[in-house]
Amino acid sequence: MGRVDDLRTFIYRIDAQDRITFVNREWVEFARENEASELTPENVLGQPLQRYISGWETRHLYELIYQCVREKGREVQVHFNCDSPHLRRSFRMRLFPLDRGALEFSIQVLEIKPVLPRPILDNTIEHSAEVVVICSWCKRIRIENGHWVEIADAMTYRALFGAIPPKLTHDVCEDCFSAIRRQLDDP
Ligand SMILES: [Zn+2]
Repeated sequence: MGRVDDLRTFIYRIDAQDRITFVNREWVEFARENEASELTPENVLGQPLQRYISGWETRHLYELIYQCVREKGREVQVHFNCDSPHLRRSFRMRLFPLDRGALEFSIQVLEIKPVLPRPILDNTIEHSAEVVVICSWCKRIRIENGHWVEIADAMTYRALFGAIPPKLTHDVCEDCFSAIRRQLDDP
């Protein structure tokens, strides 16, 4: 299976109170392509960004990142995955300080790779009442022994193929948390 290119840059900005002040056309397109067509400029502008971030651990980590960019007045880069059921998508997010505590997020695709369907990521189908934890950054799943594994491995481990997939709740795995902390602790 080959690689798919996406050369778009997705840009949004927040003010000093973390309210969304700008989204570019590509960002709106991306939301529409990913079953989030309610994310129009009319709906999101003026809203707190944290409203759109799932999981308190993830929100907390984002707050640490904003704080670092504002206090140090320098760019911070983080990598994350934003997968769809059929695609593994790796992104690089760059955060820049703007005037008066505002921040700009500039997100580019590093790699998009088709993968076997992962119904657990499909929001358009029915999910069971069972809940499993996914890392917001790397999209690995936590299994019983506390290990984080790729979704495909988790599906094998838990025999999720064929059954109704469980719901997801978001957290941050130890690897992602320390990788981001290291970025932020750099002078
Ligand atoms: Zn992770």
